[in-house]
Amino acid sequence: MPESQANSKNRDHKSCSPAPARLRNRPTLPLSDQERVALPQVEMTYPVKIPQYYLNLIDWTDPDDPIRLQTIPQLQELVWHDGELPDPIGDDAHSPVPRLTHRYPDRVLLFPTFKCAVYCRHCFRKESLGALGFEAGEMEQAFHYISEHPEVQEVILTGGDPLILPDANLLYLRQRVEQIRHVRMLRIHTRVPVVVPSRVTPQLIDALKASIMVSVVTHFNHPKEITEASAAACGALRAAGFMLLNQTVLLRGVNDNVQTLQTLCRELVYRLGVKPYYIHHCDLTRGVSHFRTRVEDGLALMRQLRGFISGVALPTYVLDLPGGKGKIPLGPGYVQQLSDGTWLCRTVRGESVTYREILGEAAMASVAR
Ligand SMILES: *Cc1c(COP(=O)(O)O)cnc(C)c1O
Ligand code: SF4
Repeated sequence: MPESQANSKNRDHKSCSPAPARLRNRPTLPLSDQERVALPQVEMTYPVKIPQYYLNLIDWTDPDDPIRLQTIPQLQELVWHDGELPDPIGDDAHSPVPRLTHRYPDRVLLFPTFKCAVYCRHCFRKESLGALGFEAGEMEQAFHYISEHPEVQEVILTGGDPLILPDANLLYLRQRVEQIRHVRMLRIHTRVPVVVPSRVTPQLIDALKASIMVSVVTHFNHPKEITEASAAACGALRAAGFMLLNQTVLLRGVNDNVQTLQTLCRELVYRLGVKPYYIHHCDLTRGVSHFRTRVEDGLALMRQLRGFISGVALPTYVLDLPGGKGKIPLGPGYVQQLSDGTWLCRTVRGESVTYREILGEAAMASVAR
């Protein structure tokens, strides 16, 4: 297998057998006529799965319920536009060995499984998911690669959802990461605390507790997802000493309004003790165009967060560029250089302020050089 193809065989539709279609067996669900038509068709291309706890959060009287939109397939998933990509952020472009992506020098992504507890309709890796589970041999190859790369300080377990793995696998992964002397943090990207919070058991926490820093990065998209159960799961993870962060995907019709984002960010911090880390612009994945907002609208939303909610609650709005070029902050920007040492600044309320730099003698001397 060519190196750059390390993950992509997983993305080949014909080899990707969709996960069991949990919804097909539930004729009792009050799906709309459109949803009932879409379900079997979408299931032929993409896996569908919703844990019972998360399903129970749906208010079926609301056709635009945010959890319904994130989980129940719509026919628009089968509408693919020119320019959309099977691998929108270029995971494959930087994959030297299977199950590992090394794009930034000091951190790597590891893919211990490509299965999830829920299959999010907006997922940016939706074409990679469903087929491949845990495979010890490939993990060993990935760990060998990391041990040969002393510049790697952080190992990020992603997928798929690593926390659906049995505790024994998690224990193995954590211990294997700990054994590599130059790795200083284990980071876990997961939706489990949002969609099956009961999975966050004392045994799971024990498996993850490490002698190095552990960070759990959750994926809450809407305040409705914050419940007693998800709060308890986050509380337990925090009590274990893990650093809790959250990434949100900006989704049209789900969370692309100021009230929702303000409430989400505040509840994450004040109720869950989770720091909003990134808000992702929806990637150019095929089959998610109905979720995509305009960048301009995302920037306008961010302008209404900065200064209006606590800085602790403020995420960075990022775009992951196609082709593996990496993440960049989209802004909004607040400064423009007028001349050497003079900046035109914009306040959070939209006023313009000119800022002139005043430097000490040593700094002035270095500017002159
Ligand atoms: C997003 C990403 C990371 C993590 O980036 P951070 O900015 O540290 O959160 C690491 N590797 C790859 C390939 C990524 O796409
Ligand atoms: S849990 Fe994560 S990887 Fe799995 S479908 Fe949702 S967004 Fe994608």
